[in-house]
Amino acid sequence: MRKPLVAGNWKMNGSRESVSALVDGLKAGLATEDGLAVDVAVFPSAIFVEQVGNVLASTNISWGLQNICTEEEGAYTGETSVAMAKDFACKLVLVGHSERRALYGETDADVVAKVQRAGLAGLIPVLCVGESLEERESGRTMDVVAQQVQAVLKGASPESLAQLVIAYEPVWAIGTGLTATPEQAQEVHAAIRELLAEHDADMAARTRILYGGSVKGANAAEIFAGADVDGGLVGGASLDVQDFLTICGAA
Ligand code: PGA
Repeated sequence: MRKPLVAGNWKMNGSRESVSALVDGLKAGLATEDGLAVDVAVFPSAIFVEQVGNVLASTNISWGLQNICTEEEGAYTGETSVAMAKDFACKLVLVGHSERRALYGETDADVVAKVQRAGLAGLIPVLCVGESLEERESGRTMDVVAQQVQAVLKGASPESLAQLVIAYEPVWAIGTGLTATPEQAQEVHAAIRELLAEHDADMAARTRILYGGSVKGANAAEIFAGADVDGGLVGGASLDVQDFLTICGAA
């Protein structure tokens, strides 16, 4: 009942040339008359959004931003607004990626405000949550993840959460080549869905929970097999057309 979603987070990578090759490859690889069995999206650096949109406009592939500003417009140097995202036909936005939290000091309060702003504007917020290695080793995984999820459930309005997607990304698995085992992923995903159910049963049933952290063609199928794993948020492997297409196929 939940359509899987595979999303590529390109982070701060690419050039005009490599982006062109990537989107051409995705367009060709995912071309179909009858619609895809999975939703597919890419998150380029904001500067490439127009280029990506020009190629993917008539396809089933969506695109979005890696971050969003909660302000409407004005003196916010370096930021991108929801109106700008919508002007360039973005459908989704990443919120609270662990790199934003760790490197740019984004707090749960910032994350709540961004989910709220994006959700009310009709963008799909992809809320990223996950524990550090130290937190996992000290047995605090669920406390940390629950706090990140609860902050949003309590702080954002129901309307802004209508299309929410959650990405569980253990920080220790991002870009490290380490992945959660399928059992570890499913365990946390099930617990997140339980939290959603305590909040709203319909929301629990409809919300897609993606796994992220060193997903690649070779491990995607076993990770996605979990009952509560509804696809993936893919970093490094999303820069490789063939590997990303394999991951889409696995979902
Ligand atoms: P990775 O990144 O697939 O390179 O581990 C995932 C992410 O940060 O979204």
